[in-house]
Amino acid sequence: MDFKIKYSEEQLADMMQNKSINVELVNKNFAGYQALTDGDKKALQHLVNAAKMMNNVALEQDNPYNLSAKKYLEENAANSSHIARALELFNSINGVSGFNGVDEQPIEIFENITLLKGRNFYPQDLNIEEFHDILIKMLKSGKIKEVQNILSARTMVRRDGEELKGIDYTEYFADEFSYIANELEVAAYYTSNNEFKEYLGWQAQAFLQNNEDMDMLADKHWAVMQDTPLEFTISRENYDDEITPTIYDNKELAELINIHKIEAVSKDMLGVRVGIINKEGTDLILKFKQHLPDLARLMPYADKYNQTILNGEELKQTMVDADIVELQGDYAQCRGGITTAQNLPNNDKLSVKTGGGRRNVYHRQVRMSGDKSKQQAILDRLVDKSLHQYFDKEADHLFVIGHENGHSLGPGSEYQNAIGTYKHIIEEHKADTISLAFMPYYVKNEVITSDMLKKIYVSYIVGRMFLAARPHHMLPHRMGELIQFNYLLEHKAISFNQEGLLQIDFDILDNVLHKMLDETIAVQLSKSPTQAENFINKYTQWSEYSAKIANVHKELGLKPYKKIIRYF
Ligand SMILES: [Zn+2]
Repeated sequence: MDFKIKYSEEQLADMMQNKSINVELVNKNFAGYQALTDGDKKALQHLVNAAKMMNNVALEQDNPYNLSAKKYLEENAANSSHIARALELFNSINGVSGFNGVDEQPIEIFENITLLKGRNFYPQDLNIEEFHDILIKMLKSGKIKEVQNILSARTMVRRDGEELKGIDYTEYFADEFSYIANELEVAAYYTSNNEFKEYLGWQAQAFLQNNEDMDMLADKHWAVMQDTPLEFTISRENYDDEITPTIYDNKELAELINIHKIEAVSKDMLGVRVGIINKEGTDLILKFKQHLPDLARLMPYADKYNQTILNGEELKQTMVDADIVELQGDYAQCRGGITTAQNLPNNDKLSVKTGGGRRNVYHRQVRMSGDKSKQQAILDRLVDKSLHQYFDKEADHLFVIGHENGHSLGPGSEYQNAIGTYKHIIEEHKADTISLAFMPYYVKNEVITSDMLKKIYVSYIVGRMFLAARPHHMLPHRMGELIQFNYLLEHKAISFNQEGLLQIDFDILDNVLHKMLDETIAVQLSKSPTQAENFINKYTQWSEYSAKIANVHKELGLKPYKKIIRYF
């Protein structure tokens, strides 16, 4: 492959110098690191080694040219400042291509290497029509198990004569997984904490066996840890694969899939996060946790579906605030953003289906990064002066806690998946709406003050609903924010005065948010892709207000790129 860089050196320098924000992870002088035992310090380094290896796995999953392109860039960066800049961009998006969250077209670093709908999970020359035809033929000739393998979250799919075959990750990535398992075993030996040690042992085994039960056991041990010094996470999320969910758009195929009770799950992109647990931050988060069962009862249509969170007597959700040491793989694919918190395992995972809990980890270094002078300029240009006092980063963190908790509430995965292509947009939008709609409840229960409630509203509307660009449908969080913005406008909870400055009607906002939550849950309960599409189309119009806000963002300069600064 010939690697011809599409961007000029000047363009790349502009992207990486003027349009990027540093996310600085913790270094060895950090107090939280210094306070670790010698054993935990050693364990941490081995966990970082495992994370770096996992990045190679994610690169291979993401694009067939990632690994060779990275090698080319690294080998030639020293001799060419142009190539060195291209390597910076590659590392920022962690691949040869990806959306940057601003431009409608994806960033593609090289000529003739494009973003692929099926990433590298599927053969790059496979189009959707052919994919459906092959699956239908295979099902009609009785190859049920083979199709189940193809539609599994944990297989790479390759051509096999006229057919396709799914290769389990433990086989496809056998070398990488064996290295990772080894590093985990060494870390397990050194760590001071028995619970963490035991989890690492299970996780290491899960990498060595083609057996979903092992993932389940590792996940279950991971999810219950509430008091450990270190954080290590295998992220398995399936937002990237655009091919698997299309099977529901083909009626004949969808019917066959149903008849044969095949569970089709999008492919997991893998990632690893390593951190040090922050005790103070964790205590605050736990205050929010204890109210989740009450919220489950307060959800709209609560009697119409099973509340996963009320299964069993104890709430199976752990939550920690972590100082981040390393982000690799999916976490480091900074394509239009970087995750500030993540609640795993997702509903499609065996551990959750069999009653295991979830663990939610918040990323302190990520949420503290940002562009402060631009934020003030946004307020000055677009927000009524009386509201400025309520813009606050910590308030945004509390919103995020509510969002992550929101994923644990509402109809389960069978409802979520049934709406097909739109499921991620609706699910993210649902989590946002739950967070906002239930904040007054936390005031009533004295977890937050009414002043903080206003801060959460204002910080959310200005910090998140004020979009910098019209979102592409592959950015489910941004699409959700656009839905909410239009919904609040239509229901007059927000408006813009003659000077074009944001006003908020705090008296009706609460009611409007609950109405929006009602409609959103109804969409999931409908199991209807059409209903989901109608809802999304109705509320993702790009109005004059959105265009104006995006223009102000553009004038002030967008910084869509992230540079993760690592010290380990
Ligand atoms: Zn979410």
